[in-house]
Amino acid sequence: MKEKPRRFLLCWCALVLIFMTSGISSGQEKPFPSITYHLSMSRPVSHLFEVSVEVELPGDFKDPSVSFQMPKWSPGRYAVFDFAKNVQEVRALAGICPAKAQCKMAPRPVRRVDDQTWSVATLGSSSLTFAYKVFGNDLSGTFSQLDERHANYNGGSIYMYLVDHKPAPVKLVIDPPSGWKIINGRTQRPGQTEWQFPNWDIMIDTPTEIAPDWTLDDFEVDGKKYHVMVHSFGAEGGKRPALVKDIEKVVRAETAMWGPPDFDEYTFLIHFAADDESGDGMEHLTSTQIIEPGALSETSVYDDTLDTVAHEFFHVWNVKRLRPYELGPWDFTKPVSTRGLFVAEGFTNYYGHLMSRRAGLWDDARFLRRESRTINGIENDPGNHLMSAEESSLSAPFLDDAPHAQKTNLANTSISYYPKGELIAMVLDLLVRGRSNGKRSLDDVMREMYDEFYLKSPSNSYYLHGRGYQPEDLLRVASKVAGVDFEDFFNRCIRNTETLPYDEAFAYVGLHVTKTALKEAFNAGLVLQFDDSRVPVIEYVRNNSPAEDAGLQGGDEIVDLAGKPLKESSWRATLARYKTGQSIPITVKRNRRTIKANLVLKETERFALKIEERTDATAEPKALRAAWLSGK
Ligand SMILES: [Zn+2]
Ligand SMILES: [Zn+2]
Repeated sequence: MKEKPRRFLLCWCALVLIFMTSGISSGQEKPFPSITYHLSMSRPVSHLFEVSVEVELPGDFKDPSVSFQMPKWSPGRYAVFDFAKNVQEVRALAGICPAKAQCKMAPRPVRRVDDQTWSVATLGSSSLTFAYKVFGNDLSGTFSQLDERHANYNGGSIYMYLVDHKPAPVKLVIDPPSGWKIINGRTQRPGQTEWQFPNWDIMIDTPTEIAPDWTLDDFEVDGKKYHVMVHSFGAEGGKRPALVKDIEKVVRAETAMWGPPDFDEYTFLIHFAADDESGDGMEHLTSTQIIEPGALSETSVYDDTLDTVAHEFFHVWNVKRLRPYELGPWDFTKPVSTRGLFVAEGFTNYYGHLMSRRAGLWDDARFLRRESRTINGIENDPGNHLMSAEESSLSAPFLDDAPHAQKTNLANTSISYYPKGELIAMVLDLLVRGRSNGKRSLDDVMREMYDEFYLKSPSNSYYLHGRGYQPEDLLRVASKVAGVDFEDFFNRCIRNTETLPYDEAFAYVGLHVTKTALKEAFNAGLVLQFDDSRVPVIEYVRNNSPAEDAGLQGGDEIVDLAGKPLKESSWRATLARYKTGQSIPITVKRNRRTIKANLVLKETERFALKIEERTDATAEPKALRAAWLSGK
C-alpha cells in the first residue's frame, strides 16, 4: 500500500481558511505543556455533562487564539451526527484554578467560528480554561446519557479536541456524584478518578460508566484479565453468572483463532436498558459498550447479548487494530470515506456467528440457519444488484443509522456492508479452504493481515501501532495464503455486484444453497408499516413493482385493500387469494386526498434460500466442514 500524506483539518469553508491562515495552523505545532479535561455532573436530572479543558500554553506562544472543535461523528458509527448541536454555555477564562480552590479568573472572549469550532482569544494568557455543558440523554454506543441513574458516555459526543493538538497527551479527571463509581476499559484500581491518555483519540476510545449500582465480574484467559460490568435496569433472573461463563467461552474461541490480544485487561460494559428501544454494540481498543433493549432474565436478550459479544470482541483485532487505511487517526471535520467496511464490519459479522459455533454456544444447524437468513436477506434485496460491497462501504455515512430528513430511495438502491460482507467472508473462507485442499483458511488470511499491518508495520501515525490496509491488500494476502489468485472474485463480487459463487464454495464442504420461489402467489412490491394507533402506512414501494405501477407511494395511508381494512395478521393472506395478473382495488389517503388504484399482481421475484446438506457429500468435504465449523 502506498502511503498518502494526511491532513488532520481540511479547510472546507472560507471562514475556517481565513482563521487557519491567521497563524493557528502554521505547519509544525509546538506541543502545549499540558491539556487536562475535567468532567463533572452536578445535576444529573438535567442530562448536562459539565466539561472543562485546562490548557497550559508554551512560554513563547504567540498565536492570538486557541480553537476547540466538537467532532462531527465518532469512530464505529459512520453517519454524521454533529455532536456540536448539544453543546451549550461555552465560556473561557484566563488561567487554571487548582482543584477545590476559589479563584477569580478573568473571562476570555469566545467566538464561534463554524458549526463545530470555537475560538478563544488568549490575550497574552499563559494558560486557559475552556468550559461548556453538553446535553446527553441517549443510552447508546455513540451518544451519551446522564440521568438520575447513571452517566454513560462515549467521548466523541462530549469531549472537544484542541485544533492541531489532537495528537497531544491528555489527562482526564472525573468528579462523580457522591456514591457513584467509575469504570472504563482503562481502569486500573477501584476508586480511580484520573487517567492519562497518550492522545485525545485514545481518550474518546474509552467509553465510561459512572453509577452507584453496577456489578463487576472477572475472569482470566491466557494471563489477560477480563471484566464484565453489568448495569441492569430490568430483572436479571439470576442469569449473570451464566452470562459471564458464556462470555468467557467466546473469548477463548476468538483468542484461539487470533492468538493473544494486544492488551493486559479488557472490559465488557453491558447495559440491560429494559426500555424496548435502546440497543447497540460498539468496539474499542480495550473495551466494548453493549446495550440491550430488554432485561437479562429474558432468553432472547441473553442470546442477543452473546451474539453482540462475539461480534464486538472480534473487533479487538478486526477494525480496532487491523484497520482500513482511513480508520484511525480520523478527520472529524468531514464524513469518513473508506472502501473497507465490508471487511471491518462484514467479516466481523461472519466471524461473530462462526465463533458462537466454535465456542459451543450454537450447534452446526443453528449456524447454518443464521447464514441462510443472511443469504435470504441479501439475495432478495433489490439493492444487491445495484450497489457493490465497496460502494456500500463508501456509502456508510448514509447507511449507518443515519437520520434522513430528505426522502430517499435507499431501500431500493443500497445494501448494507454488514450482511454483504458477511457472505463475502463466508464464501471466501470456503474458497480458500477448498482451493487449498483444506490446508489454509480465511483464519490464516486474517492472521497474516494482522501480522503484516498491525504487528510488523512501523506506525504511520501518532494514533496506534501499525498502519491501515486497502482492500487490494486483502486480495494480495488472500491470494498468497491460498496460493490461488482471487483477482477475478474481487472484481466480480466485491468491486461489482455479481452473485457470489455459492455453488463452488459450499460444494467444498458438502453443502449447497437451495433456491425456491416463495410460496406467496403475489409480488405487490409493498413494504408496510403497522402501528396499532393508526391505519397502516406504506413504508416504501419497490421499484418496477405492481405498487409502483399503481402509482402508490411511500407515506400513503392504506384505507382498504380489496374493500376491507388492512390487518397486519391477514394482509398477505388477502393478497394470496388473487392470482398473478388479477387486479385488486386499493384505497389510500395522501395529502388529504383519497386515491383509488388497482394493484395488478406480478409473478413473485422473491425466493427462499437455504444452506442444506448435499446428499452425495463424501467423507472429504464432510471433514473440511468439520474443520471449518470447529476451527480445528
Ligand atoms: Zn449505566
Ligand atoms: Zn461491528
